[in-house]
Amino acid sequence: MEFATFADRAATIDAEPADLEIVAHVRDLLADAGSDLEIVARFAQGRVFPAWDSTTLDIGPSACYEAIARAAGRNVSSDDVEERLAEMGEIGDVAASYEFGGQQGLGAFTGDDSSATGGDLTVREVADTLAELAAAEGSGSHDRKVDLLFGLFNRASSEEARYLARLVLSEMRIGVGEGTVRDAIAAAFDVPEDGVERALQVSNDYGRVARIARDEGLAGLEAMELDVGRPVQAMLAQAGTVTDALEEWGTAAVEWKYDGARIQLHHDPAGMDDGDGSTVETRVFSRNMEDVTDALPEVVEFAAETLDAPAILDGEVVAVDDDGSPLPFQEVLKRFRRKHDVAKAREDVSVRPVFFDCLHVGGEDLLAEPLTTRHDGLRSVLADSGTDGDAGDAVADEDIEGLSLLWTTDDPDEIESIDAGALEAGHEGIMLKDPGSTYSPGRRGKHWRKRKPDVETIDCVVTGAEWGEGRRATFLGTFELAVRTGDDFETVGKVATGITDEKLAELTDLLEPHIAAENGQEVDLEPEVVFEVGYEEIQSSPTYSSGYALRFPRFQGVRYDKDPEGADSLERLQRLQA
Ligand code: ATP
Repeated sequence: MEFATFADRAATIDAEPADLEIVAHVRDLLADAGSDLEIVARFAQGRVFPAWDSTTLDIGPSACYEAIARAAGRNVSSDDVEERLAEMGEIGDVAASYEFGGQQGLGAFTGDDSSATGGDLTVREVADTLAELAAAEGSGSHDRKVDLLFGLFNRASSEEARYLARLVLSEMRIGVGEGTVRDAIAAAFDVPEDGVERALQVSNDYGRVARIARDEGLAGLEAMELDVGRPVQAMLAQAGTVTDALEEWGTAAVEWKYDGARIQLHHDPAGMDDGDGSTVETRVFSRNMEDVTDALPEVVEFAAETLDAPAILDGEVVAVDDDGSPLPFQEVLKRFRRKHDVAKAREDVSVRPVFFDCLHVGGEDLLAEPLTTRHDGLRSVLADSGTDGDAGDAVADEDIEGLSLLWTTDDPDEIESIDAGALEAGHEGIMLKDPGSTYSPGRRGKHWRKRKPDVETIDCVVTGAEWGEGRRATFLGTFELAVRTGDDFETVGKVATGITDEKLAELTDLLEPHIAAENGQEVDLEPEVVFEVGYEEIQSSPTYSSGYALRFPRFQGVRYDKDPEGADSLERLQRLQA
């Protein structure tokens, strides 16, 4: 397809306000794309590469302005392009405001005679040139990239330049989103939308799905599978409450919520392409599908030691101290995406992967399986590897390295104690998942819930605490909370903070002078310090002396401005519950 045709169709789509009409235009564009279908399906979305491919053109806007200026003629400078951009506000309009086409004799600049003819640029040439541009690296690569871009603009008409500039700067913005392309593929090649949707989820490649839909129909789409080595979009979570989750699902799968960075591990002992033409056994991707393998050697080592079959695992990488206890999220950021001095950074902060899902194992895709089946698959891939037969069955989940724990329960009290255990172990809290749900890449559906941030808070007096264990032995933690009843205080719960060592040290300094009695790890405190505490629910409960309990209490901060008399009363608690 000529790039001029693509630009013309893009302009029509750009001018169309109605979504349904846009789908119809994209449908026609795809139907007419012939052998360039894959490229056209990507370009329409403003993509040069498939979504799974994190290759970028790796050029800044200024290189693009430079190329436009050079192609626009001797009297045009990058400053001129930038001035027009400040006026017009959009690079496509700026590019279209110039005349290109080698009429200024600039074809000689590249030594390319064809540049003087204009109007013969094809989408394939644009795609090939941009791929070449992306691959240019090392010294002189900036000039090489600008030369290649110049070559394209120099052969473009003003209208072609509008969409070329937008494509290069990832600002296509003609109203064609992922849903539009999905619907257009279905309409153009007469295949069901859900068949296209599934194929897009497994391949993350709109171009390939369009081609297979056209050439092989639904059967071809159904045969598409995950590729070990090509990342898929991560399934995401909504905020939600325990009450709602149990009401909807009856039983919930409960997991710890690890405070790290999301990773997708791809491992194949037979090797896979690392994206640069070499073969590797393991690749690790971020939530945005960037390749972060080199930054996380511990994860690569873990895979090499643990996995002996092809697998795609979904999880979190967490920073840990020497005991293996989790460190705050900020620590993982010192490692994640790091490109230089990885070995040195590793000495300062080590990381460890924890996996909570399994998308593929041993040649079999598990996306359509229920969560609990996928977790069983995960369990066996992490436990059995390297052993013969069913050795993994005898191993307790807690002893399987890299496996996130999963409980299924319909009991809110059990969920509460899992939550408290998660905080005590230094994690962020819990995730609730629908045990029967399939894995939907890229979806922020109702099947995964992160416990909702608290809407209401209450000011409680701290009347007791416990000394921590291990690394936290010198810190007070798990604080007993109470509300006022006249001059007295009655307990309403305990809060395990899950907060940083720094914060625990601060709280210990604050509370230690008020210790009234000690009994083993437990201490009684004079009622002096007030905490602001969030919660999900207040319930009647015989566990605490007030007759009430805060469900899912969360430490929000110290109310330095309040003395115990200013803490909330039992009466307020009763009103809040009513
Ligand atoms: P979002 O964009 O979904 O709001 P976020 O980056 O702000 O995400 P959170 O809202 O805190 O993250 O929660 C979702 C993230 O929690 C997941 O993307 C994942 O990285 C992390 N996580 C930790 N433990 C789990 C678990 N057991 N199951 C799923 N996700 C988990």
